[in-house]
Amino acid sequence: MTHWRHAEATDTGLVRQSNQDAVYVDDSLAIVADGMGGHAAGEVASEMTIEMLHAGFVENRTVEGLYNAINAANITVLNDARDNPNHFGMGTTVIALGLTVDDEGVTSPTLCHVGDSRAYQLRDGALRQLTDDHSVAEEWVRMGRLTPEEAAVHPRRHQLTRGVGVEEAIAVDVMSVHALAGDRLLLCSDGLSNELDSDTLARLSSAPFTLEEAVLQLVEAAKEAGGRDNITAVLLEFDEVSEASTPIKRTISSITPPDARATTPTTPKRRKRHRLTWRTPAALLLFAGVFVGAYFVVHWYAYSTYYLGNDAGTVAVFQGQPSGILWFKPIKVFDTNYHVSDLRSTDRIQLNQTIAEPTEAAALNYATYLCTQATSCGASTTTTTSTTTTTLKKG
Ligand code: MN
Repeated sequence: MTHWRHAEATDTGLVRQSNQDAVYVDDSLAIVADGMGGHAAGEVASEMTIEMLHAGFVENRTVEGLYNAINAANITVLNDARDNPNHFGMGTTVIALGLTVDDEGVTSPTLCHVGDSRAYQLRDGALRQLTDDHSVAEEWVRMGRLTPEEAAVHPRRHQLTRGVGVEEAIAVDVMSVHALAGDRLLLCSDGLSNELDSDTLARLSSAPFTLEEAVLQLVEAAKEAGGRDNITAVLLEFDEVSEASTPIKRTISSITPPDARATTPTTPKRRKRHRLTWRTPAALLLFAGVFVGAYFVVHWYAYSTYYLGNDAGTVAVFQGQPSGILWFKPIKVFDTNYHVSDLRSTDRIQLNQTIAEPTEAAALNYATYLCTQATSCGASTTTTTSTTTTTLKKG
């Protein structure tokens, strides 16, 4: 079992018009939220987050329940800021310590944190910071770009890299707290930690001061140091404390990791693409084959026959069907010199209606025959096929 006693204090400070910090503590959950945003929107964000966290944790007293509640608060604050112009740009930090129950039924303290509110652990008068600030300057310290001393005065030390209600995806630092009976935990907003150095925090938070004395003197000291921001302090002291069966210390993100995003969809995609490399040409070939086959069948049929016809006054041999088939129009293969007007009238009528012949030779023979029947087609009735052929010119 784990049990704690608690005390908390919050103050507007000496400079700010309103207190946008929010605090909640009971026997199993402690939360500090430092809201930001104009027109009291910061207050809305911090209050909303605390309400959602509390409600979510009452429903599900596990690490997952605590994390999910922060996720839900993030979406709620974000949507509210989108829907309400007065709440545009609002957000909040959150630091929450919950007594979570694990699979083996052990109740132990779990810390969840987003932003630059802090948690410290105190033991025998010594103070250890449990959380990393999610601010630009502090991230740069962790990257080695700034020293802690440079970060303390850096203009971007207050600029958050993570917050509740800032983006749809949220990364939450989640950790099991390893504590001993008698250990104290301090949760605070930056209005406290910016005004007081760690030695002062340690001294004012520890015994012999009671929890109640400690939180009040912490707030007073921060105000004496300038009180430039809202100040919130929560102190917890463990009477008894258990270790989590499976301790956790990691950042849980609702963001899909870039690796997962890159590999998961491409694996089937790649396989699909591979299939296409041989299936598509095969399908195209098959389609082309059918198409080409059909083309030749129709083409063969369309041009399998010949006929004689009137080509602008002269007798001509055409290959194909007189009216054409599909886009296969008849082709003129020979143009004779025989004038249609010279033909016998019955032949002329026949010719104008076209005279079908099975082959080109048959068509030429019939053309010659028509000529021989005509009175004056420029050739005698004794004209042989061979001499007639010489009078034909390629159309
Ligand atoms: Mn603050």
